[in-house]
Amino acid sequence: MSPTVSGIHHVTAYAHDPQENVDFYTSVLGLRLVKQTVLFNNPSEVFRGPTMYHFYYADGTGTPGSVITFKPHHSIQHGQVGRGQATATAFTIPEGAVEYWVDRLDTADRATLYPVTDRFGRTVIRFQDHDGQPLELITGTSDIEPWTGGPVPAEHALRGFHGVTIHPDNAQLTADVLELMGYEQVDYQPTPQDGDWTRFRAEGVEHGQFIDLYNEPNMHKGRWGYGTVHHVAFRVDDDDQQQALRRRLRDAGHAPTSMKDRNYFHSIYFREPNGVNFEIATDPPGFLHDEPEDALGEKLMLPPFLQDRRAEVEAQRDDITVP
Ligand code: ZN
Repeated sequence: MSPTVSGIHHVTAYAHDPQENVDFYTSVLGLRLVKQTVLFNNPSEVFRGPTMYHFYYADGTGTPGSVITFKPHHSIQHGQVGRGQATATAFTIPEGAVEYWVDRLDTADRATLYPVTDRFGRTVIRFQDHDGQPLELITGTSDIEPWTGGPVPAEHALRGFHGVTIHPDNAQLTADVLELMGYEQVDYQPTPQDGDWTRFRAEGVEHGQFIDLYNEPNMHKGRWGYGTVHHVAFRVDDDDQQQALRRRLRDAGHAPTSMKDRNYFHSIYFREPNGVNFEIATDPPGFLHDEPEDALGEKLMLPPFLQDRRAEVEAQRDDITVP
C-alpha cells in the first residue's frame, strides 16, 4: 500500500509574549496547554541565544490533529501574513456554537473579529489573536472529545482542527505535493471579489482532514515573524510509513530532511515548491510519555539531552502562569 498522511498532526506558529500566548489559547479559546517545553534543535543551538519556549495546546491529551504549537519570544519581529504561507488555521466547532463564539470573541479584548462568512457550505468565523495570527472556527463534525477543564462549556468547545488554508503563488505545485501525500481534491469555490478556493481532503480521518488552497495572485507576499505560521505538520502512523513517504517525496524531486526526534513525535521536514514548510510527524510516542494525563502542561519539560542543564535553561526564560 502506498504511504499516505492522515490529515494534520499539528500547526506551529510564531508568537510574541509567552504569557499573552498562554492566556489567549487557554482562557479565550479554551484549549489545554498539554506541554511546555523549549525549542530543541540540538544542544549547541539551544544555548546560542535566549531559550525559546515551545508551547503545545490541544484537546485534553494532545491528540494529533488538535495540536497548535507556538514559539513565543520578545525578540521575534512582527510578521506579515501573505502568499507563500499557511494563512489561516481552522478549528471545528459544533453547528450550534456560532452565536456563542461570535459573542465570546467579540467581547474578548485580545481578539480581532471579522464578519462571519461561508465556505463550502459551512459557517466560518474568522478572527485574529492579539499577535495578528489568523484563525478560524468552522462548523462541522469531528471525533475529537472537547477539553472540558477550561472555561468553554463542552457543548461549544473546539473539536480539533478543521483544516488549514495555504496561499500559494502557484496552486498547482502545492496541489501536486498534497496529492503525493494522499490528499484528494474534493471541492472548488470561486469567489467574485477575491480569489478562488480549492479544497483537498485526507481520507480515513474525522478531524483535521482539510487543506484549502486559496488562489489570489494580488495578495502581498508573506514575511515570517510573530502572527504567522511557521509550518504545517501532517500525520503518519509510524516510522516505517514516514520513511516510505520520505522516499516517495525524494523520488518526486523534493528534499526532505533526515528524521529528527522531537520527543513527542518523530519528524521529517521539507519546503514545498511555494515556500511553505511542511513536516511529516508520527503519532507515537505522543504527549503522555513523560507526564501523567492529569498533570500535562503544568511544568517545564525538557528532552533527555537537556535534562542535566535544567537550571541553565530555567534561568534564561520568562516565568509564566498557567491559568
Ligand atoms: Zn512541527
